Amino acid sequence: MAGEPQSDCLFCKIVDGEVPATIVRETETTVAFRDINPQAPTHVLVIPRVHYPDAASLAAAEPGIIADILRESREVAELEKVEHTGYRVVFNTGSGAGQTVFHAHLHVLGGRGLNWPPG
Ligand code: IMP
Repeated sequence: MAGEPQSDCLFCKIVDGEVPATIVRETETTVAFRDINPQAPTHVLVIPRVHYPDAASLAAAEPGIIADILRESREVAELEKVEHTGYRVVFNTGSGAGQTVFHAHLHVLGGRGLNWPPG
């Protein structure tokens, strides 16, 4: 059921501490941890504790948590000292856009120049 932990979901396992991750910050509703395959000097994922397959379904069901995730991305940027040099936040939504893990997550990327448009 949407919002409930999924036994086969990697990011639910990170939330539960079953799978290790380098945690950067935690709140009541979110967890931020380092991406295992970083694409920039700063590459942190901010995820909701609740399970939704993507940002669109999370936004429809629990828009307040999307706001929490965006607020957390700002905190991460400050912690990582990229808030002044610029950083990018991305929700890949759907496999056609490159989504590979189907638990909503926001990428926070920074610490290098980032091209536009992305590939
Ligand atoms: P997506 O392609 O937008 O779905 O992003 C999924 C991200 O999760 C990718 O950048 C992966 O490198 C990252 N990832 C996959 N497994 C793990 C893990 O166990 N720990 C941290 N990051 C992971």
